[in-house]
Amino acid sequence: MGMALGVAAEEPSTRSGAIDTELYPRNADEALARLQDGNQRFMDENPRHTHEKAAWRSHLVGSQKPFATVLGCSDSRVPPEFIFDVGFGDLFTIRLAGNIIAEDVVGTLQYAVSHLHTPLVVVLGHEGCGAVSAAVDEMTHKKAKELEHIESLIRLIKPGLSKLDLKQNQEALLSAAVEANVRWSMQQISSSPEGKRALRERRVTLVGGIYELATGRVRFLE
Ligand SMILES: [Zn+2]
Repeated sequence: MGMALGVAAEEPSTRSGAIDTELYPRNADEALARLQDGNQRFMDENPRHTHEKAAWRSHLVGSQKPFATVLGCSDSRVPPEFIFDVGFGDLFTIRLAGNIIAEDVVGTLQYAVSHLHTPLVVVLGHEGCGAVSAAVDEMTHKKAKELEHIESLIRLIKPGLSKLDLKQNQEALLSAAVEANVRWSMQQISSSPEGKRALRERRVTLVGGIYELATGRVRFLE
């Protein structure tokens, strides 16, 4: 079908072949491997950009079967599909400043796990996160309170930062805070009744990652 024009400018043998031969991840391990492989291609500046063309999108008209759910930050520098070199229909994404767990986020996650059956949930934080930085600045009394709704975001971040050593230098503090915030979101997911059940029944695997702005690497947490 109408591949000729769109594909001609690329390398049809590798790029279009990848669409057809790449197997759908069957479990969380394969889903994570897919993300890691895609992130490596992205870092190497060798992305495939599969799963974008009209022919692929037409496969998706009737239904979706994303292989992973990503809770990421709204930050314009951290678009999950680019970072993992995946395309339409691959990721179910939730993006809020600071990749926080707000009430509606839980409902969206429940939908992803119980209806779409994505085997993997990734909480994706990133270096230089403004929302986390604002929370840190408040805790170190560097800044006056924010606007009301921004303040409510910060209120959701702060509990996860309570164990941080606030005396370390600013750069180390922010970096530790970003990781602590990812772990805090993970903890809230895994301690919610539905999250607890899904994890216990091994319907889903939960992982955390930190995106490095300069290198493009996602460092998955142990
Ligand atoms: Zn951010």
